[in-house]
Amino acid sequence: MPSAKAYAAHQSKEPLKPFDLQRREPGPHDVLIDIHFCGVCHSDLHQVRGEWGFDNAYPMVPGHEIVGKVEAVGNKVSKFKPGDTAGVGVFVDSCRSCPSCKEGLEQYCEGVITWTYGGVEKETGKPTYGGYSTKVVVDENYALKISPKLKPQEAAPLLCAGITTYSPLKQWGAGPGKKVGVLGLGGLGHMGVKLAAAMGAEVTVLSSSSKKKDDAARLGAKALADMSNPKSFSDLAGFFDLIVDTVSADHDLTKYAELLKRDGTLALVGLPAKAPSIVPFALTGKRRKVSGSQVGGVMETQEMLDFCAAKGLGADVEVIPMQKINEAFERMLKNDVRYRFVIDMVSLKA
Ligand code: NAP
Ligand code: ZN
Ligand code: ZN
Repeated sequence: MPSAKAYAAHQSKEPLKPFDLQRREPGPHDVLIDIHFCGVCHSDLHQVRGEWGFDNAYPMVPGHEIVGKVEAVGNKVSKFKPGDTAGVGVFVDSCRSCPSCKEGLEQYCEGVITWTYGGVEKETGKPTYGGYSTKVVVDENYALKISPKLKPQEAAPLLCAGITTYSPLKQWGAGPGKKVGVLGLGGLGHMGVKLAAAMGAEVTVLSSSSKKKDDAARLGAKALADMSNPKSFSDLAGFFDLIVDTVSADHDLTKYAELLKRDGTLALVGLPAKAPSIVPFALTGKRRKVSGSQVGGVMETQEMLDFCAAKGLGADVEVIPMQKINEAFERMLKNDVRYRFVIDMVSLKA
């Protein structure tokens, strides 16, 4: 069985520490990937800290923004060959037979979806471990092809931050003539701005300060509104067709719903620990909607990766060695990242 080096959380809220693990022996449909880079998503942080109230299994090896080189393929694999660059996102399997799986919406599987970490591997019944590790084995149907046009470290965050913003932008019609707000300019938010702008929408960043104004413009936004200033809410009342809300902490949804036009959509992708509330009048008066969206299916993730390759879009990354992960988590909590930490797995291989 391929052995891998990793970093794991052994208890909720404890620093991550080195951890050795075995990957399953690759089966006929599997690819063995030598991981080169893994992005650091705020979901990793929420889960390591046990913030979602799930019964987390430890040790937990986080990481679901994985890019690496295919090292070996099973004898039935047709999508990959050794040497190809491949990606793995938030899930590594699903039931494959429910209506959502059949429609290519595996992220909404009505049976059992296998999360990249914190799940149970179908093949072995053992826990799944994520991408903060040197190797992974995955069924080819759940791995993505990464174009050589993309730098691998900039492609890694596309596997979660990219698809999580691309999918709601597509679903709710971001494009020419549409005004899109991106609430929160972090890992997800900065990809949301790049993607919405590339789709032709007029983008406004809704941020908790004015500090990221120049970055917002560089990423493709027409404007940044500082939402710590109450005037921003009156200036932008009824302005947006769609707001993609990427905020990771508790905030007031009513105030943001009021920035939507009639029939506009507030699409939640951020997953704060605390349940939000909303004043119904903010919705009823203008038939506004609050909705949610979770990553994207395999097909749509591939579409997004190909779109990014064609448009030359990758994430803005700060590459770190694995040994700096605990520091990176602390910096994320202080909102000190522009705009995605990506772990260089060479640091674990030495
Ligand atoms: P991140 O890089 O830490 O960015 C979060 C951003 O939210 C920050 O940059 C900040 O933007 C804003 N923010 C943070 N604290 C705030 C506060 N107290 N008040 C207002 N704004 C605040 O996180 P991320 O990796 O993009 O993830 C964002 C959220 O999406 C997390 O909850 C994560 O779990 C969730 N997520 C969901 C899915 C899904 O499938 N739905 C997938 C991936 C991640 P400003 O500086 O601009 O204010
Ligand atoms: Zn994520
Ligand atoms: Zn299913």
